[in-house]
Amino acid sequence: MRLLVPYLATHGLRPFQGFFPDLLWRVEAQSRTAYLTFDDGPTTEMTRTLLDLLATYEARATHFLLGSHARQHPDLVRAIVEAGHQIGNHTFTHPDPWRVSSDSLRREVKRTTSVLEDLAGRPVRALRPPYGHPTGALRRWCAEHRQRMVMWDVMPGDYLQTATARRVSRFILRHIRPGSVIVLHDNPTCEEVTPQALRTILETLPPRGWSFDAL
Ligand SMILES: [Zn+2]
Repeated sequence: MRLLVPYLATHGLRPFQGFFPDLLWRVEAQSRTAYLTFDDGPTTEMTRTLLDLLATYEARATHFLLGSHARQHPDLVRAIVEAGHQIGNHTFTHPDPWRVSSDSLRREVKRTTSVLEDLAGRPVRALRPPYGHPTGALRRWCAEHRQRMVMWDVMPGDYLQTATARRVSRFILRHIRPGSVIVLHDNPTCEEVTPQALRTILETLPPRGWSFDAL
């Protein structure tokens, strides 16, 4: 069953995307540009490794940060921004939006926005709901505060217990399309998987004409 998760999360959601036009699933693109996103950071275990890899291969990405982690590691947030990457809102404590009140969810995203904007010195314009669970209240909040809710187009499941670097990179290589939004994690649970998978795709795809940009 677990092996099915990346396939369901990648293909199973496509029929529903039209019902949520305010959510970004994939960027309209003709050229071979894709968008790497990293959720759950910043972390002392992973962020610097990811930044080093992105710098080596001259790729830009979008980091959906937790407000609580950002407050603990302001230097890492600044390093992300100074390297030319984009940052987005991933709530303060990573609650499941489907299980908490709208009020508490609004407090989470508001608080994170203020931590991130103070550190980055610029407005936050993107938000990814934890677990990819959007709610009506969150969509309204995003519309009011001009934060685009970003979902994904390719979910290789790097956080799964069954994940391996090889499986994750192969999944991305097989499913990437122009404008794809790819979800990976800046999370210690993925430490053995994500950097190696990232290295493989950054080595493999640019020679085939692909580049990676920030949202
Ligand atoms: Zn997350």
